[in-house]
Amino acid sequence: MHFVPVVLTPEEKALQSEVRTFLAEELPKGSYRPALGMNAEHSPEFSKKLAARGWLGMVIPPEYGGQGRSAVDRFIVVEELLAAGAPVGAHWIADRQTAPTLLRFGTETQRRRFLPAIAAGECYFSIGMSEPDAGSDLASVHTTATKVDGGWSLSGTKIWTTGAHRSHFFVALCRTSALGVDRHQGLSQLIVDLSSPGIKINPILFLDGTHDFNEVVLEDVFVPDDMVLGELGMGWYQVTSELAYERSGPDRFLSTWQLLKTYLAERSERAIKVAEQLGGLTARFWTIRQLSLSVARALQLGQSPEVEAAIVKDLGTTFEQEVVAVMQSVMEDDPDPGSSSLFESLLAQAILVSPSYTIRGGTTEVLRSVAAHGLMSRK
Ligand SMILES: Cc1cc2nc3c(=O)[nH]c(=O)nc-3n(C[C@H](O)[C@H](O)[C@H](O)COP(=O)(O)OP(=O)(O)OC[C@H]3O[C@@H](n4cnc5c(N)ncnc54)[C@H](O)[C@@H]3O)c2cc1C
Repeated sequence: MHFVPVVLTPEEKALQSEVRTFLAEELPKGSYRPALGMNAEHSPEFSKKLAARGWLGMVIPPEYGGQGRSAVDRFIVVEELLAAGAPVGAHWIADRQTAPTLLRFGTETQRRRFLPAIAAGECYFSIGMSEPDAGSDLASVHTTATKVDGGWSLSGTKIWTTGAHRSHFFVALCRTSALGVDRHQGLSQLIVDLSSPGIKINPILFLDGTHDFNEVVLEDVFVPDDMVLGELGMGWYQVTSELAYERSGPDRFLSTWQLLKTYLAERSERAIKVAEQLGGLTARFWTIRQLSLSVARALQLGQSPEVEAAIVKDLGTTFEQEVVAVMQSVMEDDPDPGSSSLFESLLAQAILVSPSYTIRGGTTEVLRSVAAHGLMSRK
């Protein structure tokens, strides 16, 4: 495993304090209510504000409308946004995942069409990987694209598609040639306009009635040839390399940071009584943050840290869940738990969504298996 210790440069620290100041000024203006990690509010206005400061599309080169900055610079901005609970929901997937994938595999036409709009905070993407019978075992996707004049006819069902009801496009993993001996062959990625005829987006509501993810039913959806992402038949390779961007960032350890922060802000007099638990969590936090930062530095250097990313996601999401468990037990012991505070509402939300942290983006069992296989093959 390669986790190289990372120390931020003076320029990186200056960026960190610039973002902190911006967020501290925005909060009292009421431009957002702190929320939990990447599940935070969908706010195109806020996304555009960030874009205007050059904090979206940071790793996109200037010729495609981005900032041409490093993965570590992006890490710094994203970390501050998540730690503050800022509304990152609208642009999240496009900025984190779609942009680097387009840079790596997209055609020149696709880059010119999508990257400037992503960097401007105006074009939102979802992920069309999972299906009712294909989650961890992604190679068993049934969605099929059949060749037609000028493009592809796409049919199948995607599920758990976060934000599909608000996104403009999603990247669908599908079969473009018949299932052969090797299930990993014959898969491709298509960029699909979610307003195309033949698409039905059915909400899947959370227990509390909120709407974040969906079932997306595709019936003979026409996808033009120029919307094939990367090489036909290379979908498996592309998807697995894309997951390194999805798995290692601050979104995998900061989802419940607001809980800790708000607890300390609202109940500082009680915090001393649970100092041991809080100290333990803080120490774990700094270790995981270092590991995650180290993956960002490796991405900046052009390396492919898939194994390290899997390990960071496992450690990070388990940590996020533990924060909720500790906060819950602390509250149960609190003689005056209060009500209607920001902390109370964040805790309720965290109890509801935190079980998903170790499922979304790859389950803990699968990540451990990825890490184990990767480490074996490096021997
Ligand atoms: C909040 C949330 C948002 C999501 N957003 C998206 C999205 O936007 N787009 C998208 O495409 N998907 C999305 N997903 C889907 C997510 O990627 C899948 O839920 C995940 O990959 C697991 O697949 P599954 O639900 O089919 O479970 P399964 O794969 O059926 O797994 C069930 C259980 O079996 C275990 N298991 C499976 N295979 C193995 C194995 N080989 N070894 C050991 N144990 C195993 C798993 O760890 C798990 O505990 C989202 C999920 C959640 C919870």
